[in-house]
Amino acid sequence: MTPSKPLELLAPLSGVLLELGQVPDPVFASRMIGDGLCIDPTSQTLCAPLAGVISNIQDTGHAVSITDDNGVQVLLHIGLDTVNLAGKGFTRLVEEGQSVEAGQALIEFEADYVALNARSLLTLMLVVSGEPFTLLADDVVETGQPLLRLSPIEALDAVDEEEGDALFSKPLTLPNANGLHARPAAVFAQAAKGFNASIYLHKQTQSANAKSLVAIMALQTVQGDTLQVSAAGQDADAAITALVALLLQGCGEPVVAPAAVVAPLLSSTLLTGVCASPGSAFGQVVQVREPELNIIEEGTGEAAERAALERGLRAATEALQALQNQAAGSAQAEIFRAHQELLEDPTLLEQAHALLAAGKSAAFAWRSATQATVKLFQGLGNTLIAERAADLADVGQRVLKLILGIQDSAWDVPECAILVAEQLTPSQTASLDTRKVLGFVTVGGGATSHVAILARALGLPAICGVPVHVLALANGKQVLLDADKGELHLDPDLAEIEHLEAARQQQVVRHQRDLAQAALPATTRDGHHVEITANVASLQEVQQSLTLGGEGVGLLRSEFLYLDRNRAPSPDEQAGTYTAIAQALGAGRNLVVRTLDVGGDKPLAYVPMAAETNPFLGLRGIRLCLERPELLREQFRAILASAGFARLHIMLPMVSLLSELQLAREILEEEALALGLSELPKLGIMIEVPSAALMADVFAPHVDFFSIGTNDLTQYTLAMDRDHPRLASQADSFHPAVLRLIATTVTAARAHGKWVGVCGALASEALAVPVLIGLGVDELSVSVPLIPTIKAAVRELALADCQVIAQQVLGLAEAAQVREALRVYHAATVEPSPVLEN
Ligand code: PEP
Ligand code: MG
Repeated sequence: MTPSKPLELLAPLSGVLLELGQVPDPVFASRMIGDGLCIDPTSQTLCAPLAGVISNIQDTGHAVSITDDNGVQVLLHIGLDTVNLAGKGFTRLVEEGQSVEAGQALIEFEADYVALNARSLLTLMLVVSGEPFTLLADDVVETGQPLLRLSPIEALDAVDEEEGDALFSKPLTLPNANGLHARPAAVFAQAAKGFNASIYLHKQTQSANAKSLVAIMALQTVQGDTLQVSAAGQDADAAITALVALLLQGCGEPVVAPAAVVAPLLSSTLLTGVCASPGSAFGQVVQVREPELNIIEEGTGEAAERAALERGLRAATEALQALQNQAAGSAQAEIFRAHQELLEDPTLLEQAHALLAAGKSAAFAWRSATQATVKLFQGLGNTLIAERAADLADVGQRVLKLILGIQDSAWDVPECAILVAEQLTPSQTASLDTRKVLGFVTVGGGATSHVAILARALGLPAICGVPVHVLALANGKQVLLDADKGELHLDPDLAEIEHLEAARQQQVVRHQRDLAQAALPATTRDGHHVEITANVASLQEVQQSLTLGGEGVGLLRSEFLYLDRNRAPSPDEQAGTYTAIAQALGAGRNLVVRTLDVGGDKPLAYVPMAAETNPFLGLRGIRLCLERPELLREQFRAILASAGFARLHIMLPMVSLLSELQLAREILEEEALALGLSELPKLGIMIEVPSAALMADVFAPHVDFFSIGTNDLTQYTLAMDRDHPRLASQADSFHPAVLRLIATTVTAARAHGKWVGVCGALASEALAVPVLIGLGVDELSVSVPLIPTIKAAVRELALADCQVIAQQVLGLAEAAQVREALRVYHAATVEPSPVLEN
């Protein structure tokens, strides 16, 4: 349809005219929505430029469309980004579907409020139906004055559509914070116009022509709406794929989730990620999103705003104290203590105070200060710092809500909820109602994140690093979370659910048995003893390991002892820590202290380092310590103070060159001499770089022991970042290449009479125990809670059998084949065990 004779559009407002190209918004300026013009208003009542029907008026009152009898469609949009005002400052005078006269008042708005709280007051009048026009006014207009003359256009040729049965996409969840308002709707409609197929966007029972901006806006979508795209015609398939991808990506708006890959959404019934906390659960999807906070930039006076910020900080500190007091375990309490420390960070407070002094509000100042630091952390390309950024964002939000007086209400989640989120914050995780929440799934986060630690403390199964289309799952959808395998089953059948539930029950029974027998030695059926020690990062973990049957400490990650300190601990404090740990173990047990393994994924606040392009390949571990020998000297002195209280071993991380070992030994000898020690502690190295494994025969004469760090050995051997969420399933320590390097190391150590341990996560996997024992590993240093499980796994085996299976798997091609061979071996030689068969 098109106007049969020229139509004059009246000025909807008084004000100064601007070209669309001058509008500081690419979607409007590029005329993607339609051609028209812009008015910088001097009046506050928006009036109809033509007679017609209100084809859409946004609930927020910031935009309205009118369609006349001939199909001319005009969109009026007050201000830029005014959708964020959520209706504040606007009064709607008309309803959707209502007929209006040219010049009739449509919307009143408070110009001052809008100008102060939105990006701009510039108002757009766009001819979205596409008629060409001529301008009838100069620079300044009055409301009701003729403004544009529209020329008739020929009707567009009907789209050449080959109608057929419409194809439908799977339902998806709209990620845009403000729904499909004008700009994202225009981007979507524009993309839809690129296809010949007839395309519709569906929201519940409503449908909109996907090529019509106005129709899309009329759907009044909001974030979290479940939408579907349908298409009929030759390119329907391609249209659905492209448009679903566009929707998930936010149609040009930044959304919480990164770009999605769509194909698996349409076909897959399984989403995989990484296990953050073990276990399984069957329940319903509950999508979780934080509400947008409405923050006013200008303050009401520096003193008042400063007081508001201080009140918010004080209340947050008290809330965090309460969370620490209620914490289920020390890990949980420690996280909230670290959050409290962030609240006292002088740089953060300085930034906020500077903004208060510049007249900004408390909420604005605090948000700006925390966001700037979060961005800085995230931009460093370092997983561990990025995870601390999540902590800062979390505590920042907590304070912000307190300043704004927003109740941090516990979510109203339904029963049997499996939460799905881009990222959960530690605060959210700690406040979950575990009677209703059975587990959670996140796109972001990592197995080392604080959220993962909390999930384990709460006993909630959780997976992270799941593809972004998990955010498109409909609320209420029944899913099966198998966290042990890092899987979310989207269409589980009854048999799967029952199988998993039975396995879980068996797992519980078996775990209780292993716990009861934790004090028994880890001796195979044919009498071979394997030492089971603990990986620890605190005195508390040492004590816990002893109650769980641990036989010593195989890896003390010393860089974790003072993780949240801005200043280095004093030499005396360090010496005190090592001595206390050694005393807890006693003279009959091994204590393997690893010197600082800083760099890569482990920054240490009190050891500042320059940013590196490839931190994992940079100044990490022993390399950094040799660059700053004073650091190493001081640590050696502190460790040596504990000599005599336990069987002391010192271990160097990330060794790749023999010269590194020799230089470190010289420093150690000098420090021992200075302390008057007659005997050096044992000195060993981590085998976590392929060069060290391949040259183990060269290193062996110079060390007392090797301990294999399979986490790093895997990442460096397979050239796969150990924290890469998409590579998590392939960066598998069961890969025969890694196992062959372990074999090489053990052979070299044996030839020189040295012992070999494994302290990487592979040692904590019951499935790996036969192959490690079979290859000749003497000690397994495992994560504390798994000590009873690994001891029990050893007791079920016979060394002679293990040697056979170990040689077999070395000849396989891939990790999956090794895992399968070990499962088959296990099923054939050991009584059925749910731990291994899942
Ligand atoms: C390893 O790399 O396997 C290891 C034990 O060290 P970390 O995990 O601390 O790097
Ligand atoms: Mg390592």
